[in-house]
Amino acid sequence: MKATILNGKSLAIKTEEHIKEEVNKLKTHNVVPQLATILVGHDPASETYVKMKQNTCNRVGMKSMAIELPESTSTEELLNVIQKLNEDDMVHGILLQHPVPKQIDERKCFDKIDIKKDVDGVTCLGYGKMSMGESAFGSCTPAGIIRLIKHYELNIEGLNAVVVGRSPILGKPMAMMLLNMNATVTICHSRTNDLENIINKADLVVGAVGIPKFIKKSWIKKGAIVIDAGYHPEKCGDIDLEGIDDIASAYTPVPGGVGPMTINTLILQTLEAAKK
Ligand code: NAP
Repeated sequence: MKATILNGKSLAIKTEEHIKEEVNKLKTHNVVPQLATILVGHDPASETYVKMKQNTCNRVGMKSMAIELPESTSTEELLNVIQKLNEDDMVHGILLQHPVPKQIDERKCFDKIDIKKDVDGVTCLGYGKMSMGESAFGSCTPAGIIRLIKHYELNIEGLNAVVVGRSPILGKPMAMMLLNMNATVTICHSRTNDLENIINKADLVVGAVGIPKFIKKSWIKKGAIVIDAGYHPEKCGDIDLEGIDDIASAYTPVPGGVGPMTINTLILQTLEAAKK
């Protein structure tokens, strides 16, 4: 039997329609959801990501406030900008684009974001609450993956899930979200021994490594659910997906799987913040 394609692109398009309707309803109550984006410096990839986020806001009728700061910005200066946004009642979500220039204490700045406006799920407090199963906005990529899993009604309870990668925005929150859905979770990283053997036993694999086609098709167990969070300029992810539909029971394609869910989750969470 062919594998189910977990189509993030179509789910994101469908959800945008729903978000548009909800934004229009809020507007009748004189509330226009607004996302503030902060870009420090001129990293071309970051500029593109921020633009995409602003465009998506505009498409669904939300406002976006673009704050661009020079490369030389200090931690104190950035903290002040975030504080002002925390106090601005017209701003419902704050996104600080990662990475920031080296002289800035990124963790301190992320944690300055008011948890009510942490729609990108980057604060320690939000991560802690999410891990404890309390209400908090999740980091957008793993939260988007969970939305896909739920949309396709994949029952992951009791599954042996392996997350490859442990970054604060992806691997770690992903593992906690899967654990909260009663999967049995193993987290792998650059110092993991015998990765192939661990993946070989997984019922669900998440690739969040940052290396193109790093996880080989031959490592994946027949019938596993395969989630590829990676995206590289050569239009591939972190998993070698060629011919995967003969092995996996379900998988996310690249492009069109996890990628579109990330920004979609960001605007969905901005909408939720505005409603609150
Ligand atoms: P990251 O911060 O660079 O983290 C990579 C993780 O992979 C680290 O935990 C690292 O382990 C682990 N790793 C590196 N080499 C490894 C190896 N040989 N064996 C096992 N683990 C290894 O990356 P990230 O930000 O989490 O992103 C991961 C991927 O997701 C990238 O392809 C990125 O493009 C993609 N991504 C996509 C979206 C989206 O919107 N779709 C958003 C964010 C990221 P250590 O901790 O030991 O160093």
